[in-house]
Formats: sequence, C-alpha cells, structure tokens
Amino acid sequence: MSGIRPTGFLHLGNYFGAVRNYVRMQEEYECFFMVADLHSLTTHPDTKDLKVNVHRVLSENIASGLDPDKVALYCQSHIHETSELYLYLNMLAYQGELEKTVTFKEKVRQHPNNVNAGLLTYPVLQAADIILHRASLVPVGKDQEQHLEMARNYVQRFNHRYGKVFPEPQAFNYGSELIKVPSLDGTGKMSKSENQMATLYLSDDDDLIRKKVMKAKTDSGPTENNSKKPDYIENIFLLMRLVSDEGTIKKFESEYNNCTIRYGDMKKQLAEDMVRFIAPIRQKAMDIRNNESYLKEVMEKGAEKARRSAKATMELVRQAMGLNYY
Ligand code: AMP
Repeated sequence: MSGIRPTGFLHLGNYFGAVRNYVRMQEEYECFFMVADLHSLTTHPDTKDLKVNVHRVLSENIASGLDPDKVALYCQSHIHETSELYLYLNMLAYQGELEKTVTFKEKVRQHPNNVNAGLLTYPVLQAADIILHRASLVPVGKDQEQHLEMARNYVQRFNHRYGKVFPEPQAFNYGSELIKVPSLDGTGKMSKSENQMATLYLSDDDDLIRKKVMKAKTDSGPTENNSKKPDYIENIFLLMRLVSDEGTIKKFESEYNNCTIRYGDMKKQLAEDMVRFIAPIRQKAMDIRNNESYLKEVMEKGAEKARRSAKATMELVRQAMGLNYY
C-alpha cells in the first residue's frame, strides 16, 4: 500500500522512490495505491485545482506502468472508512511525538500561518491509510522512514490495547536501501512544489529537461586522482545511475578518477538519457489525461476494490474495540 499527494506534477523522486516499486510489486502482491487527496488538504486547502491534479497523478502513474486491472488504484477521499480509522488512531497518538516529527517541523517552517491539526496528525492519517488494508509492505522513498516508524507504533499500541488486528507495516524498496533522489542544485531532494528548476518532472518537455540538467551545479573538476566526490557531483552520478547505461557510467567514473572529466559533456549525456527516459512517459500520460471517462472508470473500479478491503478491516476494528453494541 502506498500513496502520492496530488500537489503537483510527479518528478523523478516520486518515480524512483515510489512508482517504480509499485510497478514491480503489482506482479507479486495484492496492491493498493492511492492518490492522497486528503493529505494534500493539510497544506493546499484551495481545492480549485484538485480535480486536475488528481487526474494528473493517476495518469502519470498509469503511464509509468501501473495497471488499474492488477491493483486497486483509487482516490483517498472516496474511502470513508479511512476517516473513521484515523479518528480511532488519533486517540493512540500523542502530541509530543507528533510535534517532533521532522516533516511537521519542516512544514511549520514553510507555512507558519497554517499550522493546522491535520498537519500535526498527518502521520496518523497515513497510518490509517496503510493499515486500513492491513498492509505490511509500503513502497516509499527515504523521506517517509519516520512516518512508517510512527505507523508501527500506532499498530503496536492498538494491538496491545484491543487485541491483534494489524500487521506492522515496513517501508519497502526492491533495492537494498530506500531512495532519495537529490535536487539538481545540490541542496535537498527533488520535490513537487519547491525547487522547481532543480527538479525533473515527468511532464517536462525535452528542452526544459536539457536546460535544467545543464544548470546542475558542478565545479572545475577534481585535481587529485581517485578523490572523494563533493555531494553535488555525487548527485549527478546518482542521477546518471538511474537512467544511463553501464558503459556510460563507467566512462565518466573513470574520467573522474583520472581527473580528465568534463562536466559539460557529462551533463549533456545525462540530459539526453533523461529525455529518452521521460519523453515516452510524458506522452503517454498526456493521452491518458485527455481521456476523462477512462479516468473516472479507473477511480470507480479502484474505489470498489479498496472499499471492500476497508469494510472488512473496520468490522474487525469495531469488534476488537468493543464498539459493537447490537
Ligand atoms: P509525495 O510527493 O510527498 O506525495 O511523495 C510520494 C512518494 O514519493 C513517497 O513515497 C515519497 O517517499 C516519494 N518521494 C518524494 N520525493 C522523493 C525524492 N526526492 N526521492 C525519493 N523518493 C521521493
């Protein structure tokens, strides 16, 4: 089970941190993937663009290879059971731990005038989304590690107080470690709404991709053989490892190690490899986005599957909590 907020265009971080794993998991597991529209309300209360954004996230997921016939692909707000479970979990979540959450502190800094209770309890809603399907594997990027730890805490508290209903969810990635795709300017991560010129979106056109990659931060090159790479250079290699072939990566690694590397050439190559990777997804997503009736069908079918699973879990929850008086 996993989700993506409809707060903007999907970027390479979403793809490599999350969606790529979804696409592999759909062949091996029963999967629930949702557009987290309720979560987006914590920071984006204006719903004017919400529909367009929900359609965009769905289209970009499908264009990346997610198959709505194999998984439950749905919209968070269509499953009302989530809100009920969220309420129960809120009684097991404590103010102190919520205030210490890294993402909460970050958001308080970014939106000092909108520190709402929904923002504070964001990890509780996320836990409800996951355990509503009694899911145990959660494909997410590295930025979600702490939220998953909190979800396990709520599960432990619930199971301890009311009897074992939920498995403990774990962050999941097919590689050995969770991924963080860095931004092109060497500061922080790629992100939907901040740092837009340093983030590569799946909707960027070819020229914009080239422009962004060519602006990535570099320096005049190493002066000692086999020296350690500064973070911003390591980031460019990391991006290259995501989209370029073995031979290309080896060539630039060895040029770095013997100090003959020309970062201009490296960025040109990276830009072309990015264009080759992103262009077909962008094109496909655009076609899907223009097909509103298909998207409606996808959401209805997804909600039906998710609702079935949610209803079964909530029966167990109410029974365990003793909320069955008749
Ligand atoms: P969000 O964009 O915050 O709704 O996140 C959706 C998914 O993408 C989550 O699983 C995140 O962990 C993942 N994600 C977002 N940004 C990055 C990034 N820069 N690198 C890796 N994963 C990311």
